Parts: sequence; C-alpha cells; structure tokens
Amino acid sequence: MNRIRLLPEQVANQIAAGEVIERPASVVKELVENSLDAGATRIVVEIQAGGRSLIRVTDDGVGMSRDDALLCLERHATSKIVRAEDLAAIDTMGFRGEALPSIASVSRFILTTRERDSESPEGTQVVIGGGKIHEVKVAASAPGTTVEVRQLFFNLPARRKFLRTEETESAHIQHYLTLAALGFPQVAFTFLKDGRTVWQLPALKTGTGATAKHAALRERLRSLHGSDDKMISVDFSVDLNAQTDPGAGSPEEEWQTQAVEAPMRLWGFIGAPGVSRSTREDQHLFVNRRPVENRGLNFALLEGYHTSLMKGRYPVCCLFLEIDPAAVDVNIHPAKREVRFRSEGDVRRAVAKAIRDTLLGFHSQESSARPVGPAPVPQPFQAHPNEKPAGRGLPLGQSVLPAFPANLKPLATPLATPATQAPLPMGFGVHPPPTPSHLQTAGPSISPNPISRPPAAAGGVQTQPGAATNSSAGGAVPLLHVPLRLIGVIGRLYVVLESDRGLVLLDQHAAHERVLFEQMLKRLEHKEQADSQKLLLPETVELSARDAHFLREQLPVLSRLGVGLSEFGERTFLLDALPPFVKASEPRRFVVQIIDELKAAGQEVNSLRLGEHMVAKTVCRHAVKANDPLSDTELENLIKDLRHCDMPYTCPHGRPTLVEMNFRELEKKFGRTQ
Ligand code: ADP
Ligand code: MG
Repeated sequence: MNRIRLLPEQVANQIAAGEVIERPASVVKELVENSLDAGATRIVVEIQAGGRSLIRVTDDGVGMSRDDALLCLERHATSKIVRAEDLAAIDTMGFRGEALPSIASVSRFILTTRERDSESPEGTQVVIGGGKIHEVKVAASAPGTTVEVRQLFFNLPARRKFLRTEETESAHIQHYLTLAALGFPQVAFTFLKDGRTVWQLPALKTGTGATAKHAALRERLRSLHGSDDKMISVDFSVDLNAQTDPGAGSPEEEWQTQAVEAPMRLWGFIGAPGVSRSTREDQHLFVNRRPVENRGLNFALLEGYHTSLMKGRYPVCCLFLEIDPAAVDVNIHPAKREVRFRSEGDVRRAVAKAIRDTLLGFHSQESSARPVGPAPVPQPFQAHPNEKPAGRGLPLGQSVLPAFPANLKPLATPLATPATQAPLPMGFGVHPPPTPSHLQTAGPSISPNPISRPPAAAGGVQTQPGAATNSSAGGAVPLLHVPLRLIGVIGRLYVVLESDRGLVLLDQHAAHERVLFEQMLKRLEHKEQADSQKLLLPETVELSARDAHFLREQLPVLSRLGVGLSEFGERTFLLDALPPFVKASEPRRFVVQIIDELKAAGQEVNSLRLGEHMVAKTVCRHAVKANDPLSDTELENLIKDLRHCDMPYTCPHGRPTLVEMNFRELEKKFGRTQ
C-alpha cells in the first residue's frame, strides 16, 4: 500500500511558518525586511496587544502589480533571486520567498499594494484567512504596500498558547525594530503601540562618506537610546584572504579552497573602556546591514576588549561588518538570524584586532596630543589638606592625564560603599543628561586610528585604519585632559582627586594592578626576567598530586614573572623568591592561592598551560598596595605610570581604575538642577 502523499499547499505553508514565524516579532521582522528590500524611505509599524491582535506594516516602497500581489503569496515566489547561484551572493534581506505565504497561512491577512511607478491610481487588495484567498479587489491606496496581520496563530491554538505576555512580545518587536532602525538610518521609522507613538525617527542623510555614515548612526543611537557619549567610533578596513584560514580542513573546506580576496570593513561604535553590560542586549552586530548572531563575532568582541572587560560582562556596541556577499552565507537559518563566514578565523581575528586597536587608540590619542619636544618634567602632586582650595595642588604635570569618558558614572553613592567593586551602570539603557557644553572640556577629536604597535600575530590579516572620522561622529567625550589636584585618600584605597570638571576617584589597587600587569607583559615581550626578591627563609610547599602536576605546568611562566618556585621532590616545591610587589606574609598560602586562582581561570580557557597573560593577571592580584598608605610621591608616580599604560582605564580584570563624577552630576545630586 502506498502511504506517502504530497502535503496540501496550506499544510506545507503552516509547516514553513513553524520555522520562520516563531512569534509576532518574526512577522514584524519579515514584513519590515520586505519593505526595506522594496526600497522604502518610510516605514510605519503598528501593533496591538503585543502583535497578537494586530500587526500592520506600511511602506512607500516600489509596491506590486495585481499579478505580483497574488504571486507573492505563493510558496517560493520571490523577486530577489532567480538561480541557485544567486544564493552565493545575497544582497537583499529576503530571498527565501516563504514569509508572506507562511504568515498568511497562520493569520487573517490583508495585503494592499500599489505600484510606485505605475500610472494607475488604483491598487490591489488581497484578503486571506488562514491561507485561503477570500477576496481580491481594486482598492484605493497610496503608492507602496501595507500588510495587515490580525489574530496571529488563530488557527493554531497550540502556537497561540506559547505566546508570552503582551509586554514580552512587544519587547521582542521593539528589539527587532531597534536593530532595523540602526541598520537603516536613511529610512524613517514610526512605531505605534496600542495607538501610542513609541518612536518617530526621521530619515537621516547617510551618503557614502564614512563621516556622514557615522554621524547618521550616532544620531539614530541618540534618538533610540538617549545618549551615546560613552561610545567611541570604529572604522577599519581589512583585506581578508580566505586561503590563509587555518580552519581549512573543517566542513567548510570546499568553500575555502577558492581563493577570495575579500575586502572587509568594520565601522560603528563601541563602548569606551569600562563600559559594559551584564547581558548581550546592547551588543548590536550587523553583517551587510543584517542584524546577526554569530559566535565567532561575539568571541572576537570579547577578545578585542580583553582586559578592558570584567568577567561576566559584555561589550556595548553597534558595529557593521561590510563584506563581499559572496564571502558570507546567510542561508543557514530559517529566520536568517545567523550567518557563516567563508573564512571565519580571519574575520574573527580582524574584528578582534580592530576592537583592540580602537581601544588602545582611545588612550593613545591623548598621548599624541602632547606637545612635541622634550617631555615636560612632571610636577609633583601636592597634598596639603589644610590649604585653601584655590591654592591647593599643582596640576599633575602639563601633560595629559589618564583619560576617562566624562560621563562614566559610578554606582549611586560610591563613597558610601567603598569596598564593593560594582560594575558601572553603562550601556544604551542609561540616559544621563548630556553634559552642558560649558562643562565639557575641549580635547582632541576622537579618531579611530590605531596607535602604531608591533603588528599582532594575526595570520594573514592586515588592519589599516579606515578614513578618519571627525569628532562630531566620534562618540565618547574626549579624554580627561585637565590637571588633577589631590584631595586625599579615603578608605585607605580611593584616591580623591579634583579636576576642573568635578570629582575623580582613583582605585589605587586597581591602578597599581594595571601598571604592574603591563610592566610584566612588556618584560615578557622583551624576554626579560621580571624582578624578583629572594626570600630570607625559603619555604617548602607540599601539594596534592594533582595540584603538583598542575603547578609544574605553570612553573616556566611563574618563574619568568619572578615567582621563584622549583621542584623539591615528587609533590614538594621550594619557594625562594617573590616579585617585589608581593609581600606574602605566608608564602605557602600565596602559592596555594595562586594555584586555586589559576585553576579557576584555566577552566575558562580550557588549556593545561595557561597563557602568560593569565598568569600575570593572577600574580598582579596579589599586589599589596590595596590598603597601604601611599606617600604623595608614590601616588604621583602611580598616576604617571598609569598614564603610560596602553589600557589605563581598567585593571587587568576589567574593573575601572578611575571614576569621574562631573559637576553636572553633582549639581543634580544636590538638587541644584533637575
Ligand atoms: P522574499 O522576501 O524572500 O522574496 P516574501 O514572501 O517575504 O519572500 O515576499 C515575496 C515577494 O513579494 C518579494 O520577493 C517581493 O517581490 C514581494 N514583496 C513582499 N513585500 C513587499 C513590499 N512591502 N513591497 C514590495 N514588494 C513586496
Ligand atoms: Mg521577505
């Protein structure tokens, strides 16, 4: 008996809908993508009850003829690709020809459309219920297309039950629209929720120049998130050569055998050092304007931030990767959410390098702003608590000081909670009022040029700075550029400083850790042996077999970092020297702690011998400056050393070293302004 039969069209559509249309936000996504593909300059999205009862998307795009209006509802009907080869280089949002029939099969659906370029003032309206065409008629309509989707999943009660609350579904819709609006600043977006206008974003001029593009994106970010002044701009171009990808041999091998010289550009904004969030929510990544998820890119971001990010925190960014469509596969996910790169490894390395160089450049630009000529003699700090404010303290050198984005805000009352190192409440979600111009210090414009450093080992990837963008598109407030005056130290840890802009706090331990860390790495880079101080009384440390084995693996790096440990038996080690900044009163405990910390860190990196960075970070944690009273000269040196760091704003673990509270924020706290 034959048991196999072809499914009716309607059932096939509902099955496709199961993949493509997960929730109301998927409908909004597909419809808005169609509008964007239709060349719309204005898109209005209206929803009711979280999109459950109504989703209406109206555009002023090319529209459709009567025939097309009927054809577009057929499965696999598309105007975007013709041949299978076209799949290899997709430059539209859609291409599967599945969205409209899928949506129409699970809702009450009305399509109204009129061709933009036709003479006729008449449009076409198609009314469909659960996939069945009820009516096709002539209808009055403005040029463009409106799709109305009511009662989503009305004929699939099981799916309807899975929908979350109205708020949740609206939030998903709003999230997608945010991405679309960021990806297309040249398009005007209006978003209406239950009759209320949520956004009305005007179309922005983007042009082709990097400056105009950055400026438009910045403007969009500002209107969507309120503030963008903690962002720095990124603009890098790279030539990727797919053949250099060491990933060859993987399933993508076939793909990679073709040599592709793919130019890649990465531009947009990233959070300044110290800016992060506890989720990936404000991490917006686009590949050829398509918002995407890609593990490699996520990883590249974390790699790029490296020590500028606390564990468990995520970067804040809005980044656009522009790459030859042939070098990226978008046809790997039904909702086109994920992409795969032809040379995944190269893309990842290039992105990580672009981020790292941008972050380094953020600090180095102030160095480059220093006057040319002999370095100014640093003037000593002065700390005379009894002196009158006006006379107190000399500027800390004539040169520039450790930079910090001016609007970085500490948690509510940092002075009251000195012991907690709470993450900074950063991200797009925060809406601090803009700093009035009179309080802003003029500084060098932010340009994304990386500072010149020895090229990183980035196999086959060359990064060059892209066209410089000007400061108006540049993102974060220029670096702290003003003299600092020492006020004192509180909690034996926080150095209180005063600038012309307000209050600056320095975590002396975090700062010291950063300084030591970079010094150690530089020594390692130059193959130098770190300073080490012999212990008066060498101590033996006995360990469990496993710990002993683990420690043995790390011995070479530890000893280069100045920790003098040697094997003294099967499970016994002799500790006879320590880096000078580690004053372990109980050397044995120090060794055990280091092992525990390294083991914990090792679980993350999953390798037996830990990288030098990891070991250096761990050793620095034991720097003892935390509660040590420092003399003025020591403080002065600490700040001077910090200024010479590549990444002065965070400790090697990503915690901030400096926090600034400007007068504007102080005024607000004291109720002097609204
Ligand atoms: P795809 O976008 O993958 O081609 P869809 O089912 O989303 O598939 O749309 C089918 C076709 O209908 C599109 O290729 C396009 O030609 C047409 N279309 C859909 N929406 C619009 C719109 N808003 N304006 C103009 N044409 C549209
Ligand atoms: Mg589509």
